[in-house]
Amino acid sequence: MELLTEFPHLLPQNRQGTVYDGFISVHNRHYRVQINLHVPGQLSEASVSCDWKLQHILRRYEHIIKQRLQQCSTLHDFLIELRSIIERQLEQEEKDLGQTGVFQVCEQLLADLEQLGWERLVYIDPSFQEIHLQLMDDGNRKHVLKVQLSNEYPKEKPKCLTELPAKFEVHWTASSHLQDIYSQFHHIVSLYQEFWDMMEEIDRNTWVLEPEKPNYSAVHRRLAISSGASVQIAVDPKHPRVLPECRFLGADQAVSPLRESMGKNIQFWNEDRSLLDNLQMLLGITFPSPSNSKKEDFSVECGICYAYRLEMEIPNEVCNDARCGQSYHQSCLYEWLRALPSSRQSFNTIFGECPYCEKPITARMPMK
Ligand SMILES: [Zn+2]
Ligand SMILES: [Zn+2]
Repeated sequence: MELLTEFPHLLPQNRQGTVYDGFISVHNRHYRVQINLHVPGQLSEASVSCDWKLQHILRRYEHIIKQRLQQCSTLHDFLIELRSIIERQLEQEEKDLGQTGVFQVCEQLLADLEQLGWERLVYIDPSFQEIHLQLMDDGNRKHVLKVQLSNEYPKEKPKCLTELPAKFEVHWTASSHLQDIYSQFHHIVSLYQEFWDMMEEIDRNTWVLEPEKPNYSAVHRRLAISSGASVQIAVDPKHPRVLPECRFLGADQAVSPLRESMGKNIQFWNEDRSLLDNLQMLLGITFPSPSNSKKEDFSVECGICYAYRLEMEIPNEVCNDARCGQSYHQSCLYEWLRALPSSRQSFNTIFGECPYCEKPITARMPMK
């Protein structure tokens, strides 16, 4: 009952009275607090969480708060202590105002965030040094802009981390603000809409062997064609409908018809069509996709170590014998051949026999 009169906005959430949720008010400001006692009536085991404003205020008091939880015998006593810590820190900050500049940075930042819209904020660290902002693009893709600030904000240009196919250069002047970075980011994101649309269509309708989880910055894809062949494409994010650089991986007998088809059809490349459509036309194939196959059919394991992924490597050395076609990691095959007395090396290439079918096979020295 005592608790209700002193802290009317903090209410028990269950019958046992172990979970409290609500607001604690200091100098007419309200801070969200949640307290979970875990064990009824026992404060020493309690966990306390609060909104990021309060987290910022209490950032140097963590150990004191822990200590108070141990010492106070009731929740009421603890809340009185907590409130006086907040009061003390707020008074201190008021005193510091204009002296260190840190407080001004916070005030400026709060004003900037207010103008930008709180719904765009996804993260802010308690010391106000890092802010993550989100942006939904026309294709309903969520992008996150990570901004790192110094105590000289907004005088000093903040650092920005993004997931874009090209470097994000911020234009910053002494009068710039967070909103300016955000609108520049918005502009850049709008430039890549077509690129992401094209890549999304590919990712949905093919088996992407590499990268494992393409992010928004990835311009490469390695697409499965058959169990022994794949194509690696490098797309120009500014001109995603233009013929990308293509590199085929796989045994000669699987790859040479693809090269032939490419030579014959390249004249029909039509930039009005999507990248996926054009690629299928170019190679004269329909890519295997999740709708008609399993990824395991294409991520063939290495015939030496029996794994698919070896650190960053995937098995892309293939035996050229039509009946064998076994895949190997470049480094596995190289080490295997090097250990054979019958193999010979010339510059970076080693010549030997396929561990499966004993037909001639070569391996390049892995670059490490
Ligand atoms: Zn291997
Ligand atoms: Zn073989």
